[in-house]
Amino acid sequence: MFEPFLFNDRINMIDFEKLKSILTENNSFLLTTHVNPDADAISSELALYFILKKLNKQVFIINHSATPYNLEFLDKEKQMQKYDPALHDKLFNEVDVIICLDFNRANRLAKMQNAFMNSKKLKVCIDHHQDSEKFADHFFVDQDYSATGHIIYDLIKKTSIVKLDYNIAYQIYAAIMTDTGSFRFERTTPEIHRIIAELLELNVDPSEIFDEIYDHSKISKIKLLGKALDSLTLYGNGNKIGYMTLRRKEFEETGAIESDTDGFVNFSLSVEGVCLGILFIELKEGFKVSFRSKGAIPVNKLAAEFGGGGHTNASGVRFFSENLDEFVDKILSRAEKYLA
Ligand code: 5GP
Ligand code: MN
Repeated sequence: MFEPFLFNDRINMIDFEKLKSILTENNSFLLTTHVNPDADAISSELALYFILKKLNKQVFIINHSATPYNLEFLDKEKQMQKYDPALHDKLFNEVDVIICLDFNRANRLAKMQNAFMNSKKLKVCIDHHQDSEKFADHFFVDQDYSATGHIIYDLIKKTSIVKLDYNIAYQIYAAIMTDTGSFRFERTTPEIHRIIAELLELNVDPSEIFDEIYDHSKISKIKLLGKALDSLTLYGNGNKIGYMTLRRKEFEETGAIESDTDGFVNFSLSVEGVCLGILFIELKEGFKVSFRSKGAIPVNKLAAEFGGGGHTNASGVRFFSENLDEFVDKILSRAEKYLA
C-alpha cells in the first residue's frame, strides 16, 4: 500500500511557467477530481479542458463520482465521464499526463486510486488545500488561493497560455463563487472582486450560475435539510459546538441523495455563539463527517486526527466501515479541545 508522505512546509509558490510547459509540450491528458465533487472541482476540470482544447490537445475527464445533478449544467458539452474500470483503467496508462484538480491525497480518488497509483504516466496536482501528500510528480499548490478555479485563472493571466474567453470565464466564476461561499469567506479579497469584475465583463451572468447551483434543488433535498436542522444539537462548554446527524433512514424517507447534503453543515454556524459546526452523515458505504469553523479554529487539524483534511475553516473525513455512534462521541470530545 502506498505510504503517505506529507510535505513538511507550506507550499505556496506556483511555477506557472512550468505548468504551462507541461500543458503545451504534451498531447493527451486525463483530468480528474475528488470523490463527490463540488463546483470548484468540476469547474476547474472544465476550465482546464477548454484551455487544452484551445491548444488542440486530446482531453479526457474521468471522475470517480457522477456529477451532482445541480452541477450538470456546467458540463454543456457532456465531457465528464464516470469512472468505469473496464473502460478507463487502460486510459491511465495511455495518456501523456494525468492532472488531479482540487484535492491533494490519493485516497480522495476512492475506487480510482489503484488505477491512478499504478500508472507510470506523468502526474500533476493543481490544488488549494493544506498538507499535500506527495502522490504526484509535479505540484502546483497554494493554499492561499480561494479556489482551484482561481489558480486556473492565474495560469491564464500569468502565462497567456490562451486568451480568457466566455466558456473559461463561466467555469472560473462558478468555482470562485462557490468556494468563497458566495463571496463571504476569508479569501474574499479585493483581488477576487477584480477578477470577478473581469469575468462579468466577458458576459458571465452571476444570477444564472447562482440560480442553477443553488435554486434548482429537488424537494427531497430541502426535506432532508429540514431533518438535518431538526437534529441540530449544541455541545460543549458554552455551547460552542453545533452538530447535526443524518442517517440512512432519513435519506430513504426523503428520497434525497448524498450530494444533496452539500452546504448543510454551514447552518450549524448560524446559531449565535457556535464557532465549530459538524455534520455526521451515514452513507451507503461508511460515514462522512464535515467540519466548519469560524476564526482561527483549525478544523483541518481536527479532521486530520481521524485521517481527513481540508482547510482551516472547512474540512472533512470519510470512514469506510465503522460504527458511527462510537465516532460521534470521540469526535465531539476531540472537537472541544480545539475551542481553547
Ligand atoms: P465538505 O465538508 O464540503 O465535503 O468538505 C470540506 C473540505 O474538506 C473540502 O475542502 C474537502 O476537500 C475537505 N475534505 C472533505 N472530506 C475529506 C476527506 O475525506 N479527506 C480529506 N483529506 N479532505 C476532505
Ligand atoms: Mn476547492
